[in-house]
Amino acid sequence: MSGVAVTKGNATAGTDDALVVLKNVNKHFGALHVLQDIDLTISRGEVVVVIGPSGSGKSTLCRAINRLEAIDSGEISIDGKPMPAEGRELAALRADVGMVFQSFNLFAHKTVLQNVTLGQIKVRKKDKKDAEERARSLLERVGVTTQADKYPAQLSGGQQQRVAIARALAMEPKVMLFDEPTSALDPEMINEVLEVMQQLARDGMTMVVVTHEMGFARSAANRVVFMSDGRIVEETTPDEFFTNPRSDRAKDFLSKIL
Ligand code: ADP
Ligand code: MG
Repeated sequence: MSGVAVTKGNATAGTDDALVVLKNVNKHFGALHVLQDIDLTISRGEVVVVIGPSGSGKSTLCRAINRLEAIDSGEISIDGKPMPAEGRELAALRADVGMVFQSFNLFAHKTVLQNVTLGQIKVRKKDKKDAEERARSLLERVGVTTQADKYPAQLSGGQQQRVAIARALAMEPKVMLFDEPTSALDPEMINEVLEVMQQLARDGMTMVVVTHEMGFARSAANRVVFMSDGRIVEETTPDEFFTNPRSDRAKDFLSKIL
């Protein structure tokens, strides 16, 4: 591999290794210009942490990447393929992008095991036995093996979020998006989720993580993207960002959270 600029985990930030590419992406909600000329390239194995004030467009950015939100202009491609706007191709490409939300979003009326097998069977067309085998190994990886036959409501928030991660991984995504995955958790459960994410990063998963957990950003991120008012204002290493933020907006933001 060439052009290795940043290495943490298995990241190789060479331009020939681009996995997710956003070019001049714009999105409005009515009069609100929520994504403004977003250019962002995420390389295979890279961990990008997106931070910024509430309302700056972080969730919309994540949702745009897997087309849960349509964009007004610009291009988004995953692994060299442009994101189609709809149809079967969109479903296929969307399956390459795992997403973990703040609010877990597990299927309430399915067991933990069923939550992790469902997409494999329906979308990836695996047979039940293979899907269950993979599900059990993923549940082990996120540390919830003993919960396999329970329903989401019987689990703690931290356990539910770890199941949600396992469910997303079951689809064998090329990239994982995390939108404030620990924001809805009780404080004592935050670390168990962050640890799973840290391990995933070390295993070389390409990740986009919206979070206010600055410890995670410092230790796991190859790059920090700071958003404000729909724009990427700064894009740099965590070290540089936390010790030497350039823009007033980043300085102001950091002074409030650190
Ligand atoms: P963040 O995740 O950084 O807090 P969001 O991407 O959720 O920001 O939202 C960016 C802006 O877009 C906010 O002002 C929000 O109120 C607005 N917004 C988000 N979703 C919608 C929507 N579906 N309709 C209208 N406005 C929206
Ligand atoms: Mg958000």
